[in-house]
Amino acid sequence: MPRACCVPGCKANYKTFEVSAFRFPSDERRRLQWVKAIHREDFTPSSTSVVCARHFEEHFIITEDSITRPDGTVITAKRGTPALTSRSTCQRKHHLLAQMHKKE
Ligand SMILES: [Zn+2]
Repeated sequence: MPRACCVPGCKANYKTFEVSAFRFPSDERRRLQWVKAIHREDFTPSSTSVVCARHFEEHFIITEDSITRPDGTVITAKRGTPALTSRSTCQRKHHLLAQMHKKE
């Protein structure tokens, strides 16, 4: 389901589904990290809140799955839906904010 990014100032997916978006982690500590990075006042992420791929470093986004077969060969397949690595944080947020402030 396409959902609009909850980061203030980010217009991703408001009209068309153009970038992948990720739900907040269920892990409390990581979820708080995301909320902190987003910097949105009085914001509590709901189960439908998402952050789009623009706020993550590319290496945190998994677009391929690798499976090792019993004979040792590895098959790599492109994922239909990108996922985030377990260590992902919204690190690009500050870059994005800096860019937006320059435009204003
Ligand atoms: Zn966004």
